[in-house]
Amino acid sequence: MIILGIETSCDETGVAVYDTARPGAEGLRAQALYSQVALHAEYGGVVPELASRDHVRKLLPLVRQTLAEAGLAPSDLDGVAYTAGPGLVGALLVGAGAARALAWALDVPAIGVHHMEGHLLAPLLEAPDLEPPFVALLVSGGHSQLVMVEGIGRYRLLGETLDDAAGEAFDKTAKLMGLPYPGGPQLAALAEHGTPGRFKFSRPMTDRPGLDFSFSGLKTQVLLAWRDSDQSDQTKADIARGFEDAVVDTLAIKCERALDATGCDTLVVAGGVGANKRLRAKLQAMAEKRGGRVAFPRPALCTDNGAMIAFAGALRLEAGQHDDASVRVAPRWDMASLPAVA
Ligand code: ATP
Ligand code: MG
Ligand code: FE
Repeated sequence: MIILGIETSCDETGVAVYDTARPGAEGLRAQALYSQVALHAEYGGVVPELASRDHVRKLLPLVRQTLAEAGLAPSDLDGVAYTAGPGLVGALLVGAGAARALAWALDVPAIGVHHMEGHLLAPLLEAPDLEPPFVALLVSGGHSQLVMVEGIGRYRLLGETLDDAAGEAFDKTAKLMGLPYPGGPQLAALAEHGTPGRFKFSRPMTDRPGLDFSFSGLKTQVLLAWRDSDQSDQTKADIARGFEDAVVDTLAIKCERALDATGCDTLVVAGGVGANKRLRAKLQAMAEKRGGRVAFPRPALCTDNGAMIAFAGALRLEAGQHDDASVRVAPRWDMASLPAVA
């Protein structure tokens, strides 16, 4: 099946074509991404109404561009997959409306994809030999979760953040040290030049049992350290390094705990924070030490993209699943409520 994927849940317009007849990453015939980062930067965060309007402007040109790059006509499509939630309601409606209209005009099935399932399955796009059961660490701008993946569509939440998501903590911490939006990747880049160990922050909630996270206290620790410092460039980098090490250590400790608790030896990492180099290295080292396996998507497939939606939708459409013709989105949506893919 040749599936068009559309992602518009937040501030990225993502479009891709995935062909299930080709193995793994070769199935990705073309993809395009338009980031609204510059649009929202002056407000220091995503402005929902501006996001919706920009999706309206960019989506159809991106669909045309992606089909042209794949050398396909709209009539070659066998199905359409779009992000139906969770996310910003107006932004989701743009993608869902366009996807539904296309599917109706082409008389092909369409399916609303759960954005976090898209993130979660992205590593499988590049590693087709990867099969459940495995533990997934989902770390993005809005989520930090450990999920037991029993099968495609069979997800059991093991633990999640009680306050800020890991990506949100990166962004907020960057902001309080004056880095421009979106600060997460910039904070990580700064940490590369930081002195390890000069600033030591806590590893929240690792001193007690359980698989939940809490990152908001870490942000406060950084605020106090930054306020009481000389605020030089080197200090900023050193604090960034201390913060990154604290987040990475905390995530690694909880991942190892989740693997122990479930008896799994495979860990799959997805979501924007999965692009973090130090997190990748740390989890790789942990997996090697345990004799297990860790899988990450390439960094461009960690953050929001259309490919993960095309891929997740393709798995469901191939299994015969699809939704009726109404345009429905779910700004809040529990991944555990998804149907299994047989
Ligand atoms: P959600 O998927 O929960 O709805 P989102 O779609 O906004 O949220 P993603 O696009 O998956 O999130 O990821 C964006 C987040 O990843 C941002 O918070 C960003 O700071 C963070 N991020 C991206 N690259 C890095 C990096 N190298 N190191 C740390 N954080 C990063
Ligand atoms: Mg984004
Ligand atoms: Fe996302």
